[in-house]
Amino acid sequence: MSKPRHRSSHRPETSDTGSQPGDTTRRVTTVLVILLVLSLVVHIATAPPREPPTDKPPAATPAAPPGVTPSQAKRDPALPPTLTRVAMPSAEPTNPLDPARAKRYLEEVCALGNRMSGSPGMRAQQELLISHFEPHADQVERQTFKVRNPLGGPAVEMANLIVRWRPEATDRVLLCAHYDTRPLPDRDPNPMARRNGRFIGANDGGSGVAVLMELAHQLAEYEGPLGVDVVLFDGEELVYVDDRDPYFLGSRYFAQDYAKRKPQRGSGAWSYRAGILLDMVGDADLQIYQERFSYRNLTTRPLVMQVWATAQRLGVAEFYPRVRHEVRDDHLALQRFGGIPAIDLIDFDYPAWHTEADVPMNCSGDSLAKVGWVVWEWLLEQREASQPNRRSP
Ligand SMILES: [Zn+2]
Repeated sequence: MSKPRHRSSHRPETSDTGSQPGDTTRRVTTVLVILLVLSLVVHIATAPPREPPTDKPPAATPAAPPGVTPSQAKRDPALPPTLTRVAMPSAEPTNPLDPARAKRYLEEVCALGNRMSGSPGMRAQQELLISHFEPHADQVERQTFKVRNPLGGPAVEMANLIVRWRPEATDRVLLCAHYDTRPLPDRDPNPMARRNGRFIGANDGGSGVAVLMELAHQLAEYEGPLGVDVVLFDGEELVYVDDRDPYFLGSRYFAQDYAKRKPQRGSGAWSYRAGILLDMVGDADLQIYQERFSYRNLTTRPLVMQVWATAQRLGVAEFYPRVRHEVRDDHLALQRFGGIPAIDLIDFDYPAWHTEADVPMNCSGDSLAKVGWVVWEWLLEQREASQPNRRSP
């Protein structure tokens, strides 16, 4: 450490006015000497008492605050050489996701109206999402297939949307949501609405999409060996009649295709280490309990514990560390047909579920951003816990 360096004080320049007669010079000298003696006497009389000497060496630089090592203290060229401006460690982690933007994304997809599989609203949504994700991601793929139309007539065109970051990485994480909406609000209190009402699925269909759209801004910055896939499933509920029409068509197709295509061993082997499904995560009154299937399955329980521990660390109290609700959802298809250890993050305490009242007004940007934050921080923890990357040649 260098010692403080004192600046020399400015002295007024004395002008050379030429020689003076000797007497005058002596008199001036005498007066100056008297003035000097007087000022010394005054100074001694008014000086504060000296501090007793201590053993401590003089501090050359201000001490860094706790948690900051001197090497972290950045030298600021605008400050004197011995003064440094120190970056204070943030006491609490802050959410990098933008609640207002997440809410806007939700409103944008809901403005397209009903987005059931094969509908004009769904096609418009696909265009919107492809143009949203393309600038952020490495790859965007439409995984298309056809299913029987539950109402009869021509087959329904389906498309899962697969968005990849670091497609070459063999150790991967799956973040997913369904992006189709139920055809009708068949639990609406109004019987007329149940038969021909308008269902726009803000929470059920829109919320997971909005979180993943907002998360895309962060995923572009995600560094580390893991690859990340955001997948939006079509055909989660192309259901007019329960027990007749099948659920989870998109996630089932995706999982079966994954099981077929992924090399199990050898240099090109790759797999999903974990999957997180987001469904109904936008409720303004957010309460996310541990979903029973996710908790009960011993291959996915550790992931449940990790995610809730992350939420607790961040102080996101809307994640309740208790099991409640048993929800059949896309995560079961991922587990069953693809062997993907996937869990469901879902707030199933939502009065507007499958009614015309499932609109953006009943959702909040704060809820969307909080859920996205927990997922983001969990992802950062995975990076630290990951093994050295196994890359395909
Ligand atoms: Zn639903």
